[in-house]
This record gives sequence, structure tokens and C-alpha cells, in this order.
Amino acid sequence: MKEILTNNRDETQKFAALVAALSSPGLVIALNGDLGAGKTTFTQGFSRALGVTERVKSPTFNIMNTYHTHHFPIYHFDAYRLEETGAQDQGFEDYVGTDGVTLIEWPQYMKDLLPNNRLELIFTRGKYDDSRKIQINGVGSAVEIERQL
Ligand code: ADP
Ligand code: MG
Repeated sequence: MKEILTNNRDETQKFAALVAALSSPGLVIALNGDLGAGKTTFTQGFSRALGVTERVKSPTFNIMNTYHTHHFPIYHFDAYRLEETGAQDQGFEDYVGTDGVTLIEWPQYMKDLLPNNRLELIFTRGKYDDSRKIQINGVGSAVEIERQL
């Protein structure tokens, strides 16, 4: 487990760009943290670093958005609404961990679909300022990414 501290959204997006540079198809990134912690901000920085120019926002209502890059597709999930319905039988397994990189906000609501190899990030808001603590835990083969960050 590693840990970094960012002081503003730019720093979180710079960190996301680093993660993007180490990413390859099949990677799943679980973005843990409360509302406003910076999960979507991270995804924006990640996507922009790979050349996505369209606006990246939380796919709360449609659960998943796809962004195309020159490298691989980005599957961006926001599982928040699955708390009540569950993630079963919606075809999500056709995306998670397949040909693209998958970023999942509220991964605790998609537990059954999380692969063993994944990068776990935990975002925690600073109490008195804009800082965010980001804990990094590479599970399985993603331990190599944690090592390089
Ligand atoms: P989440 O997707 O986790 O609910 P968002 O990324 O949508 O959170 O919102 C985070 C908000 O906090 C944004 O308005 C962003 O500009 C702001 N912010 C302030 N400081 C930071 C920081 N260090 N890292 C990320 N976001 C930050
Ligand atoms: Mg969000």
C-alpha cells in the first residue's frame, strides 16, 4: 500500500495521468471514496491524458460511459445506483476487465464483477483544505503498477 497527497484538482489529475501512462487493456481501477472525494476528477485526468477531449462526467444515470482513445477504450462506471438493484444480468461483464481499461466509482456495489487483478485507489478528503489522500493498493498483477507509482 502506497499513499500520496494532492493539494488541488490539478494535482489529482496529474497523478491520474501517471496512472494512465502505466495502464494497459484489461486493467480495472476501483475508485473508492465518498461523494466529492475526487473519483470523477481522477477519471477526467486519466482520460484527458489518453487524448479524450469530450467532457467526462459521472455516469450516474446510465451507469457506464465509454470513451475512445487511440490506445484502448475507457469504460467508466458509476455503480452508485446499483446499491438497490445489484449489478447482475446487465451485461457489465462484457466490459469490465476486457479490451479496455475500466474505472469504477462506488466499486463496493459491483463487488461480484471485480477481477482479482485490480488497482484499488481510496480517496479521502482533507478536513480543512482541498487536499486529498489517495491510497494505492495494487492487487494481483496490478502490484506492478503500484510499485511504479
Ligand atoms: P466524486 O466523483 O468522488 O464524487 P468529483 O471528482 O466529482 O468527486 O468532485 C471532486 C470535487 O472536489 C471537484 O469539484 C474538484 O474540483 C474538487 N477538488 C478540490 N480539491 C481536489 C483535489 N485535491 N483532488 C480532486 N478534486 C478536488
Ligand atoms: Mg463521481
